[in-house]
Amino acid sequence: MVEKKYKTAPLKSWDKAKEIRLNIYKEIAEAKSKGKVLLGGGAESLIALPTGFDYAMLVGEPYGAAISYLAKSDPDEYMKYVEASEHAGYPRDLCAYMRNYIGSILRDKYVFGGPFPKIDFYLQAGFCDTHSKWYQAVSDITGRPYFSLDLVPFDWEIEGESEKTKDLKRKYIVDQIHEAIAWMEKQTGREFNDETFIQGVLNECESTSLWAKVCIANRAIPAPLDEKTMLSLYVLAVIGRPRNDVVEFYRELLDEVEDRVANQIAANPYETARIITDSQPPWFALDLFRLLETYGVVSVGAHYTFGLSGGWEYDEENKTWEAGKTPQEKGVEVKTRDEAANVLADWWLRTGTVCRGVRHSGAGKIQRIMDMVDRWKVDGAIVHLNRGCEGTSLGQMDIVSSLLERGLPTMTYEGNHADPREYDENRTFARIESFMETMGLKQLYEFKKGE
Ligand code: SF4
Repeated sequence: MVEKKYKTAPLKSWDKAKEIRLNIYKEIAEAKSKGKVLLGGGAESLIALPTGFDYAMLVGEPYGAAISYLAKSDPDEYMKYVEASEHAGYPRDLCAYMRNYIGSILRDKYVFGGPFPKIDFYLQAGFCDTHSKWYQAVSDITGRPYFSLDLVPFDWEIEGESEKTKDLKRKYIVDQIHEAIAWMEKQTGREFNDETFIQGVLNECESTSLWAKVCIANRAIPAPLDEKTMLSLYVLAVIGRPRNDVVEFYRELLDEVEDRVANQIAANPYETARIITDSQPPWFALDLFRLLETYGVVSVGAHYTFGLSGGWEYDEENKTWEAGKTPQEKGVEVKTRDEAANVLADWWLRTGTVCRGVRHSGAGKIQRIMDMVDRWKVDGAIVHLNRGCEGTSLGQMDIVSSLLERGLPTMTYEGNHADPREYDENRTFARIESFMETMGLKQLYEFKKGE
């Protein structure tokens, strides 16, 4: 056994993250019996919007991922979700999360136990091209109404948009926020509470900015976190960023991660090389990160993991991205619904980076990935050519070419983030092992599956 280079320690926040996630799914199951508004929708549908109600929200993509975990523990049960969706005519080339979600509705089965929750309405934003159609289909199946916001494509730090077009885009989203609130009031017959909405918006800004700061802490050598762990941490921002307990969690997590940096506590005590990945991982096969560890490799993150619910602000002078400054940090007071709507629209347009990658030209995403390579001191990249996601796989081969052009060892593997029929673990492991050799790395200890 090779000697460890760094200290390591379990992450103290780990259990808390699991507890909050499960609580959120429990609240969804119990929402109707507790008289709450229950809605469904996508992760980037401006999820602070319903905070003006006493509510619970089932966020579609992480729910689709939760179903795909079954592929590992109970493959036969998992196939029942997939087949229900496919028999209803939703083919394999559609978003794999969407297919799992629709399978869950058609089976009337909530993966966390009991029947599929009785959703009052669906609220969605056109984040990638699938999103609005996803909830249109769900609305057709369930008969529940849906509202879709149009999130305009943007990438203004890269595309050099004028202040006038930026203002028009902000206003376009603010108008839709007001429209969505009026629509939700009509659907529920309940009054929208501006105070809780304002707090929800401020929480959304703070959670996402804190997550960006946690990612920034991972620039340290040794990295305090590995991507496999980050995938269990970022999800709280995805499903609950406007919540008080989620903001509190990220404050504590940032303290803990900064303490790990100060004390050189490593995610991988053998850290020898650092990589990034691209796109969502195959959720049912996260062992690939364990295989990398046996070579002393730590995956420090991904454009996706950092950005899906991360608040990143472009630093014009240094041509890089830093954690977005929240309204609270800037001393901006938010007192009215309209002010909160403006803050939310501005925050989303200014700091949401993944949406730029799925709705706009690849130039911005390539620049952000190069920034990660430089600032997170990355030695290689592993790109998941993800057949289950038309959004995050957009432009992937251009990214690979750009990384290879700058001389960064880069490998690809084909797969699907939520459908194991399109992922070949033996072949992927063989590719990773030869990639490790090309990076000049040796296996330090034996890989044991499931550890
Ligand atoms: S970005 Fe990918 S995973 Fe998300 S809705 Fe679009 S296709 Fe599905």
